[in-house]
Amino acid sequence: MDISPAHNQSLEDLARENVLHPFTSPKGLLETGPTVMLEGKGARLTDAKGKVYLDGLAGLWCVNAGYGRIEIAEAIFEQAKKLPYYHQFSAMGTEPGIYTADKVKRLAPGRMARVLFGCSGSDANDTQVKIAWYYNNLKGRPQKKKILARNRAYHGVTVAAGSLTGLAYVHDAFDLPVLPVIRLTCPHYYHEQQPGESEDAFCDRLVEELKTTIEREGAETIAAFIAEPVMGAGGVVFPPKGYFEKVSKVLKDNDILFIADEVICGFGRLGTPFGADYFGFEPDMISVAKGITSGYQPLSAVLVGEEVWETIRDASAHLGVFGHGYTYTAHPIACAAANANLDIMEREKLFDNAAETGAYLQEKLRQRFAGDPHVGEIRGAGMIAAVELSADPATRKTFDPSKGVGKAVAAEAMSRGLIVRPMMNDALAMSPPLIITRADVDEMVDNLAASIDAKRDMIAAAAKA
Ligand code: PMP
Repeated sequence: MDISPAHNQSLEDLARENVLHPFTSPKGLLETGPTVMLEGKGARLTDAKGKVYLDGLAGLWCVNAGYGRIEIAEAIFEQAKKLPYYHQFSAMGTEPGIYTADKVKRLAPGRMARVLFGCSGSDANDTQVKIAWYYNNLKGRPQKKKILARNRAYHGVTVAAGSLTGLAYVHDAFDLPVLPVIRLTCPHYYHEQQPGESEDAFCDRLVEELKTTIEREGAETIAAFIAEPVMGAGGVVFPPKGYFEKVSKVLKDNDILFIADEVICGFGRLGTPFGADYFGFEPDMISVAKGITSGYQPLSAVLVGEEVWETIRDASAHLGVFGHGYTYTAHPIACAAANANLDIMEREKLFDNAAETGAYLQEKLRQRFAGDPHVGEIRGAGMIAAVELSADPATRKTFDPSKGVGKAVAAEAMSRGLIVRPMMNDALAMSPPLIITRADVDEMVDNLAASIDAKRDMIAAAAKA
């Protein structure tokens, strides 16, 4: 057997021949090959050709503490030397996982009682579904199983999480959704408003939809409602004012669990520890991942509130064990990375920087793009934002998706050294590391403006089509 590196082939060719890339056109990749990143420092990445980028998306919304953190790398190294692996099954455990659970619980909003670790946001949301079902079975309500989720939500891609996700490209040809998911309107006022409808009236309509959906299906059949505080992959969608407050009340009145998917918003993205803090609501359960380690190791967690925890605890009298968890639950190296990362966030007050420099980012984006003939909505808070291109801002008209306007601008930005993510409706998403400075913000905004200008003719032609 010879598996030594094929040095006669380029990295790009090796990838073309061997790798199935997530969320990439398999055929397209054969032509273009991948961009291979080699190094990162702060908010900057360097690719295999030596080109430097400002990472306006923090990897995939996750490198909150920035790249090149020696402290996290050393924590990983030390833990790997001391004890690379041991598990949490059968009442076993390791130091890092116990500390991470304590830290995360103290940071979390509401009355969270216990923490169960996984490896990805998707598995965390699968766990949430199982716990919501388990909880209702234990309470003697086996019919209470349906899950409410919103259009354009992104909760992951595994069989359960992918079913909760409300984006066609996650379902198409995969036979999803398979769960009893009931879909609700995406809370995006800009696109979902009716003629003459105010934002408040829009909010009330969504709350009314929730109520009538519960009445139609029967509260006794609905286990949970899942929501990202700010929708990320669905296009950086902020709900109308008062939405979560009103939704929470309806859920409480109907004994339906509120699962907050904080995979993006958790750990400072909005300038508050969690998205629930930003919007002022108290979920029953929370999913986290990404920012918990700033992406230095794969780690996710499910936090369960008092009520669910007490039911699970009391069930051991007849069920014995809680029959769920992974080989890598609370993986010691991942938790060591999380602990070092959370220490950095606290010491460097990164949530405060996300709020302050984030406010500067939001202001700069609005100043620069307001009135642009091809910019529709500019939205965001803290360190998450989107600039949505529009064929006609006056009527909020979107471009024909086949024109690829957002993709072209993002590609132009990348060629100029800025990574932004093209989303649905040609929105360009930004979610930079929380460490960025005002100078970085200026560079991001200048680069994005120059990229839109460079593609102006193409955009104008697409707007007329
Ligand atoms: N939930 C949300 C809100 C996410 O943004 C993501 C990933 N973008 C996930 C869940 C899934 O996480 P993962 O890719 O780690 O499975």
